[in-house]
Amino acid sequence: MLSDLHKPSEDQYLNCIRCGLCLAVCPTYREHLTETASPRGRVALARKGLEGELQLSLNLVEQMYACFDCLACNEICPVGIRPADLALEMRAMQEQLQPEAWKKALFGNLIPKPGRMEAATWPLRVYEKLGIRRLVYALGLRKLLPGKLRDLEAMLPHLPQRPLRQALPEVTEAASEEKYRVGFFLGCAQSLMFAEESAASVRVLARNGCTVITPKETVCCGMPALDYGRTDLVREQARINIALFEKAGVETIVTDCATCGSTLKDYGKLLADDPDWAERAAAFSQKVRDVSEFLMSIPLEKPQGRVEARVTYHDPCHLRRGQGVWKQPRELLQMIDGLEFVELPEADWCCGSAGSQLITHYETSLKVLERKTDNLASAQADYIASGCPGCQMQLNVGVRREGLDVQVVHPITLLDRAYKK
Ligand code: SF4
Ligand code: SF4
Repeated sequence: MLSDLHKPSEDQYLNCIRCGLCLAVCPTYREHLTETASPRGRVALARKGLEGELQLSLNLVEQMYACFDCLACNEICPVGIRPADLALEMRAMQEQLQPEAWKKALFGNLIPKPGRMEAATWPLRVYEKLGIRRLVYALGLRKLLPGKLRDLEAMLPHLPQRPLRQALPEVTEAASEEKYRVGFFLGCAQSLMFAEESAASVRVLARNGCTVITPKETVCCGMPALDYGRTDLVREQARINIALFEKAGVETIVTDCATCGSTLKDYGKLLADDPDWAERAAAFSQKVRDVSEFLMSIPLEKPQGRVEARVTYHDPCHLRRGQGVWKQPRELLQMIDGLEFVELPEADWCCGSAGSQLITHYETSLKVLERKTDNLASAQADYIASGCPGCQMQLNVGVRREGLDVQVVHPITLLDRAYKK
């Protein structure tokens, strides 16, 4: 019964004036050119579903899942409709009506359990460690893989030997006099796949006077569960993370993952109706900073080394629109001597990753990516920097598909390199 459910509020769908401004910024509309694949269409579908004219049919739900959650429509809507949020709320509503057991297994029992994730991704580390991957590339065997599998393989960065959660100390002392005591939220993808980047983040923080506390028992920030309508699981995960950082007694909580950062900053909203947690969650969220946001807010040591390279930058949607952080990564890169910064055309246009869209909406995801790689090719850069593991994996696919001679990095990697020289 719809009447028993937690539903989106009416002003989220009744206020639409059908102006169509959101169509111009929507990557899924741009590829399909159909009203249902647009923010305005999704708002209309949600309204009809909620008013009972349409069942929450598979087709309606599919359109909500086809949204890339890039937040561009939220930003442009003149009357404050937030179609991206509405799509997520519709997914959550569908999940209340027809919960799917696999979601509980995946987002409740696997992803938030770091030890299980480390075990589940062990074959990938073996693939890298034994040199099988190098061989696959050297012999051109990758080309023999069917298209989608080839692209999924191409997503993988150079994988670490050990998850960073196991290697990083719980306390990293400031390199000189302690000026700040910060918590570091180590995201799952960062620990399992981009360990060297987060190790670099911690080094850079310590070099700039931070004692860095990295609680090891943190669980997933909750974004994957949120994407699939399991807000109940996100709240459980939020409570665990909040309690851990309270115990750490830190002034600021830094993360180098754009997706984690935007979710952590939303804990206050997610737990606003929970009398036991609302205040604690709001206090937690107020402390969260992206690593570039934090570093550019303190007197940052100018790196002495040089990075002689042409570098461009892709804005992760959840950093630029989700957190309003776009100047800081650019400023951070431009502090490095020798580095030639070149602005990427349409730098804030979604890359097509959106978490799992390359798996669930392969064709659309690739089309959105092609636009990004065309722009990347025109920038003629040696590196493309981006502070989101999902974007980096998607950009890896684009670079490998098109054979571009461009390396995908986190901005912090280049700063760390300039400090070491
Ligand atoms: S921009 Fe806002 S008001 Fe205009 S069509 Fe899109 S959702 Fe409706
Ligand atoms: S969040 Fe992005 S993909 Fe989804 S409807 Fe809005 S503009 Fe389109």
